[in-house]
Amino acid sequence: MSSVMWFRRDLRVRDNPALLAALSDGPVTCLFVIDPVIWSGAGAARRAWLAANVLSLAERIPLTIRYGDPLDVVPSVAGSDAVHIAAETTPYGHRRDAAVGELVDLVASGSPYAVGPGLIRNQTGDPYQVFTAFARAWREGGWPEPAVTPRSPDVVPADSSPDAVAMLEQAVADAPFELPTAGEDAAWRRWHAFRDNDLDDYQVERDRPDHDGTSRLSPYLHLGVLHPRSLLAELDPASTYATELAWREFYADVLWHEPSSAWADLKSALGEMRYDEPDDAIEAWRTGTTGYPIVDAGMRQLLATGWMHNRVRMITASFLTKDLHVWWPAGARHFLSLLIDGDVASNNHGWQWVAGTGTDASPYFRVFNPVTQGKQFDPDGSYVRRWVPELAHLPGAAAHEPWKSDTGYEGDYPLRIVDHADERVEALERYRSARA
Ligand code: FAD
Repeated sequence: MSSVMWFRRDLRVRDNPALLAALSDGPVTCLFVIDPVIWSGAGAARRAWLAANVLSLAERIPLTIRYGDPLDVVPSVAGSDAVHIAAETTPYGHRRDAAVGELVDLVASGSPYAVGPGLIRNQTGDPYQVFTAFARAWREGGWPEPAVTPRSPDVVPADSSPDAVAMLEQAVADAPFELPTAGEDAAWRRWHAFRDNDLDDYQVERDRPDHDGTSRLSPYLHLGVLHPRSLLAELDPASTYATELAWREFYADVLWHEPSSAWADLKSALGEMRYDEPDDAIEAWRTGTTGYPIVDAGMRQLLATGWMHNRVRMITASFLTKDLHVWWPAGARHFLSLLIDGDVASNNHGWQWVAGTGTDASPYFRVFNPVTQGKQFDPDGSYVRRWVPELAHLPGAAAHEPWKSDTGYEGDYPLRIVDHADERVEALERYRSARA
């Protein structure tokens, strides 16, 4: 019996239960469909990253690459064969799979997570609302061992559409900047280098944007080039790194239970909150010209590389929501269009965590001070100098406060667009009246 393996966010051969399930049926057609909905919604860097990883997979196994609505393409390739997938749990992916499942025999094995969203429940059968309780249950319940790697998979020759392959090749050629090396081998090399050199110091180094102390695996994890289960098999479940992977699982779980929270407040407590319309100020934020060095450094790192350090994601998100008083979806949309790890669950719930509308219990009073955050996590100012050349002449922590230096603005760095102290008071006032 033949079958189809439809790859989506699982662009790998190792530790791939859906591929194994397909191979157990007999010869397999490996399929990737460029879905116009996802393709047109992504910026050039995201398209290039996806394309590079699909093409890398195609070098490893014969991959039939097509372009079009999966509702048309998948049934036309599969005919009466079963179609194997890793379950997709985002609102769009889930809807799409339900629709395709009406037309073909869709068989799901595994998901992009160590524990599938929706599986972890508290004693009363409800989903966890708070991360610490979720993470405890997640650890206690454990996850399956990695799946074996198929030795000589029986994959039928690829029957790609030349136009679809050309689209991917063009997207790679159009990458706006140099991307990480794509593909499974590169992902494993990065993991091994991080595990062997940086994992021991991760707990202290992970908050330092000026150091290269995090794994930078998020772009690979997002597309399933590497599965978190493979990493967890080599980790102490109680380690800080495993806890960070648990955040990814938690947000996917929250989104699974509350699909509307992709673009609306998870909690209604701030439903009456007064926001400002995004205007010129958000443009300054997007372009990294707010006059706050750590904010501008982060936004420019995003524009130049398609990635931003986690600490700085929090600082820049706080600046947009609490200093500029813009509702979080505007910022989440901007991040998603640029981040090569852009993931609706981690991104949009990361934003809601900062904005105070999400899973955290009482964060509305947490307003990040961009200057003290900068001085604390980039104490020598080197992260700021790397991304903001107008401040390259300011030594040490002086780069965080150009307004205190006689030469602070000689590189034409912009003046601060708002006064953080005033906007903090304003944000707290708005939070107070929204909750009243
Ligand atoms: P590491 O520190 O090496 O962490 C290892 C892995 O753990 C990451 O690759 C990621 O998969 C997971 N992880 C770590 N921190 C978090 C977290 N806070 N939430 C969820 N997963 C986490 N992560 C994304 O993968 N995609 C996004 O679109 C995204 N958007 C974000 C937006 C905001 C406003 C915030 C505050 C955070 C966002 N994050 C997002 C989470 C986090 O910033 C990134 O996962 C992390 O910076 C990726 O770098 P890394 O792989 O070096 O992380």
